[in-house]
Amino acid sequence: MDKKLNRDTLCVQAGWSPKKGEPRVVPICQSTTFKYDTSEQMARLFDLEESGYFYTRLQNPTNDAVAAKIAALEGGVGAMLTASGQAANFYAVFNICEAGDHVVCSSTVYGGTYNLFAVTLKKLGIGCTFVDAGLPEEELDKAFRPNTKALFGETISNPGGDVLDIEKFARTAHRHGVPLIVDNTFATPINCRPFEWGADIVTHSTTKYMDGHAVSVGGAIVDSGNFDWEAHADKFPGLTAPDPSYHGLTYTKAFGRMAYITKATAQLMRDLGSTQSPQNAFLLNLGLETLHLRMPRHCGNAQRVAEWLEAHPKVKWVNYCGLKSSKYYELGRKYLPDGSCGVIAFGLDGSREDAVRFMDRLRFICIVTHVADARTCVLHPASHTHRQLSDEQLREAGVAPDLIRLSVGIENAEDILSDLEQALEGM
Ligand SMILES: *Cc1c(COP(=O)(O)O)cnc(C)c1O
Repeated sequence: MDKKLNRDTLCVQAGWSPKKGEPRVVPICQSTTFKYDTSEQMARLFDLEESGYFYTRLQNPTNDAVAAKIAALEGGVGAMLTASGQAANFYAVFNICEAGDHVVCSSTVYGGTYNLFAVTLKKLGIGCTFVDAGLPEEELDKAFRPNTKALFGETISNPGGDVLDIEKFARTAHRHGVPLIVDNTFATPINCRPFEWGADIVTHSTTKYMDGHAVSVGGAIVDSGNFDWEAHADKFPGLTAPDPSYHGLTYTKAFGRMAYITKATAQLMRDLGSTQSPQNAFLLNLGLETLHLRMPRHCGNAQRVAEWLEAHPKVKWVNYCGLKSSKYYELGRKYLPDGSCGVIAFGLDGSREDAVRFMDRLRFICIVTHVADARTCVLHPASHTHRQLSDEQLREAGVAPDLIRLSVGIENAEDILSDLEQALEGM
């Protein structure tokens, strides 16, 4: 596909170019396995000497078409779909880390990512230092150790809405010879392409805006192909030294700029197997076909709702980077000039219980454990998604106990405001 096409066109067209007589729409290849004529043909696939399909845990044509679309949208050299966003973030880190290694991560990342890094990676022997992403570079430097293998952050943090200074993070990571991994779930490549600001690897929970209709859980990892693993060969032996599980093949030598994403597929997906089902990939692709239409609507509606909330006497605070009062307004203008996302964090002038009462009074705006889909929804992280975190961890994660996360959908803005109004009225 022509790389120069605009994002709008890539959303609709990228990843699948049918040949004569083939289906116009990406077909669902609902097959675990693929046929070959000779044993020799199949053996070459297993040795990674030829590319081709043999078992859906490793690769599937539907998934590959959708991954190629996401890679095109982000401007990467390759991508891999995973069964969930959690799997994407786990693989993105585990692809270059092993027991004894360490990562540095922004402290305001999504609660699931926080748990994964703080608790589960630790059990695998991988340490994590959480940092305040707003610190100056000299302070961030102090978190790095000789065994640090990656720096991690979210373009827009879930649920706090902090905007990452991607260039600052990229410079910091590169000064320590490690890649910057950015979770771009909330911004989507429609509003920000982290590779253009120096990020090396991008991850997504495709469950959110990319799917957009709350029908399929999924994730993706995208490789920019820009990080020079060979220049830091001693840090990344998994990529730069022979892999005994592939007869001594070395990923950087065999695959060049595709080394990282090929290893993620050929080794991690083979061994750990969090494959996205082709059915879900098909649904994800339908979502992607309208991502460029939905994102501006989410952002436009959220901007109106954020301004309205900020002016409401019963609202104590609002965090949305589109508001001039936001401490992320300038970073938002730099990295997200066309809009950020539909997610707003705010607190009521009242107790923690008032937040719960307000949410219970809403009508079509529902309380759901979800965010970033077509339907406006609301959640109280301290009572729901983040309830495993202690008060101190909550504060560190940028989640105030009164924080209400409002995910503004693509309905009519007036109707969204009316529902919020009637719920606030009786308080
Ligand atoms: C939801 C989310 C995840 C986890 O994704 P799942 O698809 O739910 O596994 C990771 N990062 C961010 C920013 C998210 O919003």
